[in-house]
Amino acid sequence: MVNLLDLDQELLTSFFVSLGEKPFRATQVLKWIHQLGIVDFDAMTNLSKALRQRLKENACISMPQIVMSQTSLDGTRKWLVQLDSNNSIEMVFIPEDDRGTLCVSSQVGCALNCRFCATAQQGFNRNLTTGEIIAQLWLAEQTLQAEIASLPPSSKEETQPINSSQTPFLSNGGTKEENSSLQKGKQVIRNVVFMGMGEPLTNFNNVCKAMNLMLNDFAYGLSKRRVSLSTVGIVPALLRLKEQSSVNIAISLHAPNDTLRDQLLPINKKYPLRELIAACHTLIKGEKHRQITFEYVMLKEINDSPAHAKALVKLLRGLPAKINLIPFNIFPQTDYQCATPETIERFRDILLAAGFVTITRKNRGDDIDAACGQLAGKVLDKKR
Ligand code: SAH
Repeated sequence: MVNLLDLDQELLTSFFVSLGEKPFRATQVLKWIHQLGIVDFDAMTNLSKALRQRLKENACISMPQIVMSQTSLDGTRKWLVQLDSNNSIEMVFIPEDDRGTLCVSSQVGCALNCRFCATAQQGFNRNLTTGEIIAQLWLAEQTLQAEIASLPPSSKEETQPINSSQTPFLSNGGTKEENSSLQKGKQVIRNVVFMGMGEPLTNFNNVCKAMNLMLNDFAYGLSKRRVSLSTVGIVPALLRLKEQSSVNIAISLHAPNDTLRDQLLPINKKYPLRELIAACHTLIKGEKHRQITFEYVMLKEINDSPAHAKALVKLLRGLPAKINLIPFNIFPQTDYQCATPETIERFRDILLAAGFVTITRKNRGDDIDAACGQLAGKVLDKKR
């Protein structure tokens, strides 16, 4: 049985052609599943009864399940998604002024062992399928839409902002400003970031197919600038990605020299900075307005000195780089601490003075362990 969630438009078209059907059936079914949220073949009324029957015999739409939901004081949502009896992952929805961002996972656990990341402690179970990746977007969108639809009629007016006290997905708070622009009847999730559990570039094919669906106008129709793939920098895969997709790339840099990066991200021994930075130059070649985001976790007395900042300026010179400083999020069994706000500010000022767009990321959802590097699929751990 093929799971239709695993298929992007190209594969779904081949599937229908193999059944002796016209290619346009693919776009019809993509709309049913991804835009209308319908996973019951009988409800796909523009397909003939005979075709619906054949689909039931040859295909399925196998959707993972949300088994736990938590809401942070700042409105951030975290869902635990059960994939099969042994595996679950976490995804996070971050409401923002302009709708919201979904942070998706690409693997159960992670094999890369970055020293400052909670997911690494869990070890690596397996890659997610394309269906399991896109299902996160489907589940989050459907859940949020259903919550909005269940609001009392007065708050459902298209033009009316949703009242924070009535908004289920922001019910634990969120400032008025944060809530005011989330409106009913429109796609809630506008941005997707691959910043959940796992290293997306070591699950290349499935991640690319899922991104195809995210960008596809018959599915989610997200703009390519609103889908971001965050990676430690698996150099050959990064270069391959240039040929496949022009989504935003975020590089988890975290150190300006190999000695330190070798310690923090052991994968650096395989793909040292010289190769990684060269790959970044290749990525932007011929693409005028393209920027690359660099993520830099601020670890107290490890990578946060002015000398580190100056070395970073030197390393990134000549690249259209946007730098995100991420205050370290603490988790059990870590010896690292977050750099002080003053140190982060001093670090940022050096980067700004050198002309780099630099943002200090807000810690969203850290009270429910939903912030960067805190995702671990805990229920699974407990069961073990
Ligand atoms: N494997 C991918 C995506 C997952 S993590 C990657 O490494 O890019 C998303 C971001 O959170 C990465 O930049 C990661 O380095 C950062 N991160 C991991 N643990 C963190 C922690 N404890 N505090 C802050 N950021 C963390």
